[in-house]
Amino acid sequence: MNNSDTHALTTRWQELDSRHHLHPFTDYKNLHQKGSRIIVRAEGVYLWDSDGNRILDGMAGLWCVNIGYGRKELAEVAMEQMRQLPYYNSFFQTSHPPLIELSELLSEITQPHFNRIFFTNSGSEANDTVVRMVRRYWDLHGKPQKQIIISRVNAYHGSTIAAGTLGGMTTMHEQSVVVMPGVEHIEQPYWYGEGGDLDPDEFGIKAARALSERIEQVGSDNVAAFIAEPVQGAGGVIIPPKTYWPEIKRICAEYDILLVADEVICGFGRTGKWFGSDYFELTPDLMPVAKGLSSGYLPIGGVMVGGKLADVLVDKGGEFAHGFTYSGHPVCTAVAAENIRIMQRERIVERVEQEVAPYFRRKWSELADHDLVGEARSLGLLGALELVKDKRTREFFDPALGVGNRCRDICFDNGLVMRAVGDKMVVSPPLVINHEQIDELVEAAARCLDLTQQQLR
Ligand SMILES: *Cc1c(COP(=O)(O)O)cnc(C)c1O
Repeated sequence: MNNSDTHALTTRWQELDSRHHLHPFTDYKNLHQKGSRIIVRAEGVYLWDSDGNRILDGMAGLWCVNIGYGRKELAEVAMEQMRQLPYYNSFFQTSHPPLIELSELLSEITQPHFNRIFFTNSGSEANDTVVRMVRRYWDLHGKPQKQIIISRVNAYHGSTIAAGTLGGMTTMHEQSVVVMPGVEHIEQPYWYGEGGDLDPDEFGIKAARALSERIEQVGSDNVAAFIAEPVQGAGGVIIPPKTYWPEIKRICAEYDILLVADEVICGFGRTGKWFGSDYFELTPDLMPVAKGLSSGYLPIGGVMVGGKLADVLVDKGGEFAHGFTYSGHPVCTAVAAENIRIMQRERIVERVEQEVAPYFRRKWSELADHDLVGEARSLGLLGALELVKDKRTREFFDPALGVGNRCRDICFDNGLVMRAVGDKMVVSPPLVINHEQIDELVEAAARCLDLTQQQLR
């Protein structure tokens, strides 16, 4: 096809997309004026759109394509499993080999107290499962009044009613008519934006003590669990000060409340360890997982259940009244297991820790020299830039200027996917990104920051 043919096709797809599809988290009026970008193929760390433009995917899809695009082994495993057993459920005392193999593999790569998984199709469903499971646990444990789950402002735990309530995104709360009762939110450990005159370590303690203060307010006899992402992803790659997690750990133990580490982004190598909890030396009771579990090739999630809960659920008996038609779907579990085996064979997590993340950190931090950038932080292969009006005073831009979204659009037009969370620019590239591609990412980001600055003048 020549260029005008492909362009005509793009226009046609955009029209049909506008007419028949409602996108997630999208202002439809705004999108329909511009038209969607149509992505037609991908390989490694690159995407191609329907006009033939190559784009470096700095976000690994939505934080999920850890292993990179185009791994044929995963396609082959999926095809083989579809031929062998495309579907069977696990409700009625049945199971199947890929589900069993993946469950064992997960118990191998997680901390020793994690020996069981409950499967879901997504991170949101994993967090819905968490709600039901912690309440069931305390009920069986003889403390049914322990019902409240404490979460954080600006957390993201998914988009169902329960997961959206657990999350701390106010726009999501405002748009749900019913917000699930029994959820409390405390401050986030966001030093750059909210630390004021405290140094990061002092602020980390202060943000953690918000948990004990809230527990005291509502009464520890009423608190079931604390849920948090090891590093907040969708909230803008908020990396807590190093004092934060040890203090949270201490508080959870002191008041006998469960710790739920939402590993949907941090899991499967993103931090340079298998799980964010390993990085921060947490021993959570529950770990919701999804995204990198299958590197996004098929939808699958789950909750890793620690021995403390699993033993009670199993030993006390009685039906756990919860599950999904596709829990532990044969094709999804087969692909997830192959994804993990590839990560093990190719030592992808070790390479992130030893080679890729240190190089990324060095390069990414150079962006802090740019006039627009107040902070360039990273952990593993998660990075964020704070775009600010004044670096010296940490003064932010007027949100009405939409500086982050402008920068994001400029990036896309210049062959780079970098996401905007307000005026924070975030990246989370595939774990297989190499040094040259990191150079390319950082150079493109710097160029786009220049263009953003020009546009603001
Ligand atoms: C994406 C995400 C979820 C929700 O996962 P879905 O598969 O979109 O339902 C939950 N928790 C965290 C930390 C996430 O980043």
